[in-house]
Amino acid sequence: MTDCIFCKIIAGEIPAYKIYEDDDILAFLDITQTTKGHTLVIPKTHVRNVLDMTEDQAKTLFAKIPSIAANIKRKLGATGLNMLQNNEAIAGQTVFHAHVHLIPRYSSDDGFK
Ligand code: ADP
Repeated sequence: MTDCIFCKIIAGEIPAYKIYEDDDILAFLDITQTTKGHTLVIPKTHVRNVLDMTEDQAKTLFAKIPSIAANIKRKLGATGLNMLQNNEAIAGQTVFHAHVHLIPRYSSDDGFK
């Protein structure tokens, strides 16, 4: 999709700090670091959100999330992690390319700002 910011990140047209990449998905740091290491996981094939996904697209997007989340937690010394996923504007979605937020939580943090 030509006007999709996440498709542009996948294409290398705008920069991102990549955490993990394979043929199907990309994980990169959210520009808004809600906490240190806040990461977005996206499918490389453009799909608007979970409400538009096939079962295979959902399997592809979610399959690697446990290992990506565990690596973030271990490498950054987090205590836990929030996984958030917004679908449509009413639910807080602002970028209309499906994505999962992985937000590390630390014993020293005092909740979301
Ligand atoms: P919300 O803005 O309410 O979190 P979404 O769930 O749609 O809505 O999340 C979109 C996320 O994309 C936001 O957390 C935002 O900071 C992030 N974002 C937007 N542009 C970029 C970018 N160029 N690089 C990294 N993250 C981005």
